[in-house]
Formats: sequence, C-alpha cells, structure tokens
Amino acid sequence: MSVRRTDRCGARHGNRGSDLGLSSLGGVRFRIAPTLAALALSVLLGASLVACAPPGASPATGTLDRELEPVAAASPVKTPTPTPTPLVQPGTNHAASAASYAYPAEQVNRWLVQGPAAEDYPTSKIAFLTFDDGPSKDATPAALKALETAGVPATFFVISGAQGVGTGGPELLRREVKEGHAVCVHSYSHDYSYLYPGRHANPDHIVSDLNKALGVLRETLGPEYAPTCFRYPGGHMSWNSMAGADAALAAEGFAWIDWNAMTGDAEGSKGPSTPAEAAGMVQSGIAYAEHPNVVVILMHDTMGKTLSNQALPQVVADLKAQGYSFGVIS
Ligand SMILES: [Zn+2]
Repeated sequence: MSVRRTDRCGARHGNRGSDLGLSSLGGVRFRIAPTLAALALSVLLGASLVACAPPGASPATGTLDRELEPVAAASPVKTPTPTPTPLVQPGTNHAASAASYAYPAEQVNRWLVQGPAAEDYPTSKIAFLTFDDGPSKDATPAALKALETAGVPATFFVISGAQGVGTGGPELLRREVKEGHAVCVHSYSHDYSYLYPGRHANPDHIVSDLNKALGVLRETLGPEYAPTCFRYPGGHMSWNSMAGADAALAAEGFAWIDWNAMTGDAEGSKGPSTPAEAAGMVQSGIAYAEHPNVVVILMHDTMGKTLSNQALPQVVADLKAQGYSFGVIS
C-alpha cells in the first residue's frame, strides 16, 4: 500500500502531527483466593527483605529476622498504602474501558506499511482518528466535544514540552484517557533541527526526547502509563536515515505510526478551507490508498486549529457509511 508523502507535523514549524491510541489487554480480571494472596504477600515480603539485605546477610541464617524485630515491634501494624485506582489500565495508554478497541502500534504500523499483504490484516474496516501536537486550551476541548458527539474514540499524539502540555496543561491529557481515548508519545521538543540534523534522524536525540516526553506523561497519567505508540514529528515519511532511529525506538518498546489519510488542517493555503473540503480530503486519501481496511487519519489539535473539529461529524459519518469501526492505538 502506498502512503502519501506529506510533511505536515509540528506546531512551531507550521506543521502538525496526529494522534493514536492503545493496546488491548482484553479487560481480563484476575481473582486471587485469600490464601493465595496471603502466600503471595509473604513471598513478596521475603523477596523485599532479601532485596534489602546488607552485604553478607543471609535470610537462611535468620540474621535478617532478628535485625528487623525491633522495627516490627515499634510498628506492629503495617498497613500497605492502597494504590489509588489508576487512570490507565496498567501497562497501557488508555482506560480499561478502551481495551476492546485498542490495537498495538506495531500491528497498526505493519497494517499501514504492508497493507493486505500483512498476515493478520483485518478483514473488517477499522479507522483510527489521530490528533497531533496537543493539548491546547481551545482545540483539544473542541476535539473532545466533537468526538463525544460523534460517539467515537481517537488517539492523541501529544507534545509534552512547552508547545503542548506546557500551554494546554496536564488535565486535558487526563480527560482524554477518562473519555475513552488513547494518549501516545509525539515529542517533548518537537524540534526538527535537534531530532533530524541535516534532515537525517539522530537516534540518540530521538530516544532522549522520547524519554523526556514519557517522563512528563507518567507524571500526569501515572506510573502505570505504558504506551508503545510513537509518531515522529513531521512523520517517518519525511526524513532520511530512519533505520537506526526505528531500531532505537524498538529497543525502547515503541513502534512508529504514520498515516494514510488526513483532513489537511496543516496544509496552509494549499489545504482545504471549509469543513466539507477537509472531509473530502480524507475521502481522497482513502481513495488514493485504494480503500484499505485500515485507515489512519492525521488531524491536529494545536492552538487555533478548528477545521478538523468542524469537519469531524462529516468525516465520521462518511467512515461509518463505508463500514469502518473506530479504534485507538496503544
Ligand atoms: Zn507534530
């Protein structure tokens, strides 16, 4: 399948990125019998003691037990601090309620790159609405409202630094998760000259920027937040020497995601000027890609971006009429 080459991502540079979601664990719940739980707790406590043992101490000798006795006597009741209900389903980038429609980034990327040649290419149609470069105080709430009205989920590829979370604030990220969407890593700096000096990917800079972004997201969404989805600022398709960066990303547990359709909300004077034209551009992209079963749509929720939000009702109506369901990327 061919992917359209566009270079439209990055708030500071007049480009925009997009946004995808999470992976599904199926919402499986495990029940542990009280006796097993007690056993597990004792094992964990034992492991903890071993981990904390000073050099030379051996649990087998009982040395540790004696050393810890005075502490135990001083604090006979040790009540573990309950873990508050995590915002995200632990180990994912979405709420537990989104598990049934979340797809791992590696899989979605493979579907985009290989098309129907992919072994596990879906036989039914799935669309992924993605928003790049947020959050912002105006476009992100409008996007959330439009998505709620349309009754569909989206994936937000966010900027964690000054251009995104720094201006839009962290609460919008929490709202995105709470409202059934997925949050992926886009960038911290979104600085093309740092990430791609001379238009060639710098793997060290890209991974460093990613981890900085991830740190901010975990501060906001909790330590349980664990995405595998990443979108290169500007798009993977826009830069040279990507193999090293792709391998470095994979080593960090991430897969990149581009797109095969867009509303053109970052195309400037060349792009659509009305919501109907923006929705039409999505359809043109789908037609250009030969009506694939997997569509990833690039939009933006940067400050001042209103076109995609206005176009969303028509974009979603068209996709539904064509038989697409809606997923998020993990
Ligand atoms: Zn971007």
